[in-house]
Amino acid sequence: MPLLDPQVSAKIGTLQALDDAIAFRLGRLNLPCPDCTADQKCIDHACDLELIAGYQDRYAAVFREALADMDPDDIEQVMQPGDGTPPTVGVLSAAVLARLSARQCAVPWTWPARRRCWTGSPAPGPGPARTCGS
Ligand SMILES: [Zn+2]
Repeated sequence: MPLLDPQVSAKIGTLQALDDAIAFRLGRLNLPCPDCTADQKCIDHACDLELIAGYQDRYAAVFREALADMDPDDIEQVMQPGDGTPPTVGVLSAAVLARLSARQCAVPWTWPARRRCWTGSPAPGPGPARTCGS
């Protein structure tokens, strides 16, 4: 059984690939260039800037998609605004946390039900009230 849902894994893989692509292009931009001026980038580096913007747009879209499928409590446990957690690491951490939390429950879980499992308090959700592990 894979640790993560294949769709979540695919999104994380895409985020990592975009991270790498952005880092590569930023590295190229930071190299000294005899053809760039203070006012204008050379054609190669102008292309790098456009690619970075495109990668960042795609990254933001995939990041939003990945977070939309996750429990806000899991996200909050692994990422706080301004804490410096790299976004891809945060998504991976929240996905692993969600998966581990799901394994803690003996009952089929829903997001709201699973959220309560760490405390053992009654788990809301469809059907009769349940307690994690019952
Ligand atoms: Zn240049």
